[in-house]
Amino acid sequence: MRVLVVEDEPDLLDAVAQSLRENGYAVDEAGDGKTGLFKAEGTDYDAIVLDLMLPGMSGWDLLKALRKSKATPVLILTARDATPDRVAGLDAGADDYLTKPFELVELQARLRALIRRSAGQAEAKLVVGDVTLDTAQRLAYLNGDLVSLTPREYALVELLAMHKGKLVSRTMIYEHLFDESSDTLSNLVEVHVAHVRRKLGKDFITTRRGEGYMIHV
Ligand code: CA
Repeated sequence: MRVLVVEDEPDLLDAVAQSLRENGYAVDEAGDGKTGLFKAEGTDYDAIVLDLMLPGMSGWDLLKALRKSKATPVLILTARDATPDRVAGLDAGADDYLTKPFELVELQARLRALIRRSAGQAEAKLVVGDVTLDTAQRLAYLNGDLVSLTPREYALVELLAMHKGKLVSRTMIYEHLFDESSDTLSNLVEVHVAHVRRKLGKDFITTRRGEGYMIHV
């Protein structure tokens, strides 16, 4: 899952981005509204964390502009007790909000729920054949036994599982698993797929040569 964080307070931006990376997300960052909109329009993020009070272009204006072309789930960050801000943000097309200051664990939980809902997945558990994913804990089970996956491997399996029965293109995998700071070595999708097959069964992921990958239901 790849998330964009738009926040002009450097310490908060760092803290949020780091906490998301530790939880297995690919994270892009923007320190102002214009950069945020440019990135948000150029990439299909799984979700955007958007501060409302930004220099240059405000979060509301960013959101209004983005909604003309994209339905990316957006979680807004609002100042404490700023009810009118919250209402205006939701009216402008935000999907959820969090009031500053907030706990990072709550941000994680809200984001997971937001991404699940946008994928039409209400439950935290995702079952694909013999494999069960606990999306809240980011754990995978094969026939009930916990399987140790790296964060990237888990992210790959979750992405394919959320689109089970459908072809997921290599472009889509790159866009959702890796952020702008990922090194090229970690970007070898084939390597991650090979590792997942070794752990969850060689037939778990099907390759469509030249097109992408899929998990059959
Ligand atoms: Ca701000």
